[in-house]
Amino acid sequence: MQRFDYNRSPWKSNQTQSIRQLTFPIRRPEDASTTAHTGIRNLGNTCYMNAVVQLLTAINDFDEQLCATESRCPPSITGPTVLGAICKIITQTKSTQRSCPIDPSVLREAIRKRSSLFGGYNQQDAHEFFRVVLDWVEEDCKPACADGKLDPVANHFRFSVRHTWRCDGCSVETSGVEPFYDISMDVPHKEEPWTFSKLLTHFFQREQVEKTCEKCMCTTASVRHEIVTPPKVLVLHMKRFVPNVALQTYDKCFHPVRIDEQLDIGPVCAQQPEAPKLQAYMLHGIVCHVGSTATVGHYVADTKAADGTWTHFNDSIASKCTTRELQSDQRQRNVYLAVYAL
Ligand SMILES: [Zn+2]
Repeated sequence: MQRFDYNRSPWKSNQTQSIRQLTFPIRRPEDASTTAHTGIRNLGNTCYMNAVVQLLTAINDFDEQLCATESRCPPSITGPTVLGAICKIITQTKSTQRSCPIDPSVLREAIRKRSSLFGGYNQQDAHEFFRVVLDWVEEDCKPACADGKLDPVANHFRFSVRHTWRCDGCSVETSGVEPFYDISMDVPHKEEPWTFSKLLTHFFQREQVEKTCEKCMCTTASVRHEIVTPPKVLVLHMKRFVPNVALQTYDKCFHPVRIDEQLDIGPVCAQQPEAPKLQAYMLHGIVCHVGSTATVGHYVADTKAADGTWTHFNDSIASKCTTRELQSDQRQRNVYLAVYAL
């Protein structure tokens, strides 16, 4: 799995920012009949963690396999693992008897043992946390997957992209395959709203690169990218924090992206006529970053239950959400992570 480069964190230059400096959006009055305190408690700037964990608990097949794997792991002698703590939250999330928020303290403690960055009290980037938490969970699953079985993380999230370079001089083609766990895409300025499908096509388009050909020594080539083994769960990350070199900070990009319930990744997959039609993905959840800049904001999540209904999670507060609300202008301008599954 690709290791995360913490130095690229949009939050890095602001790690000393105190909790008080962070401002949160004004919460609109909730309808008591559709609102419940059944989300995850905020332990102090942990909205990024809560939103990501809510997203993970919305992928039923992954959750089941994760909990089954965890039950086969030997007891940890150093206290709860990240895997164990997440499985505990998954179990609590599925309980219909619950009427109070979930306390994520055990997860927080397990995270603190792995990373002082994510174990502290500063706001962090939800996408970076997502990547690193998958990394830890995959590692924690290893003792139960020693028989060569694919662990739940690789089984659901890992996919391969083939890059094929064509020399501009002699047209000779060379290729290589690279594993991915998610796709991080820019949201370029455009008049009409983007869709995830259009962003993917844009991301995978053929591009010109510098590459020296061993045959003719030409220094330029064009490269095409295509998914060769689609994942069961496709995670899309919108790069909304754009480096501002002059000010040595990050600007937030608010360009809207339409949140479609279905996604066809066929156009960015290698053509395999004999392969089953695996390209129709359904939306399972999103994480939005609500806030005016990269350093000021709050993460919230919307997830789909097994019965197809949607819930909006703002830390401990859970409220019903319609598919129409899912398309709100605010979500389209703030959507940061989107999870699609087969
Ligand atoms: Zn060449």
